[in-house]
Amino acid sequence: MKCYVCAKEGKDSDAVAVCVACGMGTCMKHTIRKEVDVWEGSYPIPSHKLPKKMPRMLCPDCNAAYGEG
Ligand SMILES: [Zn+2]
Ligand SMILES: [Zn+2]
Repeated sequence: MKCYVCAKEGKDSDAVAVCVACGMGTCMKHTIRKEVDVWEGSYPIPSHKLPKKMPRMLCPDCNAAYGEG
């Protein structure tokens, strides 16, 4: 798979990750890795927060949509 963002810019980079939100392939430069809290229990009543954070890979577009934090 190729990086979608690079492809749009006319570049050709291999994707190293896939955005969890939209499925877009992104290269190292365009992958945003976010640590999110993990909650045990089912929606809408999370019982407690687990000590570990779960990494999620996002593309620049989805990262902007999620906001900073
Ligand atoms: Zn890229
Ligand atoms: Zn995305």
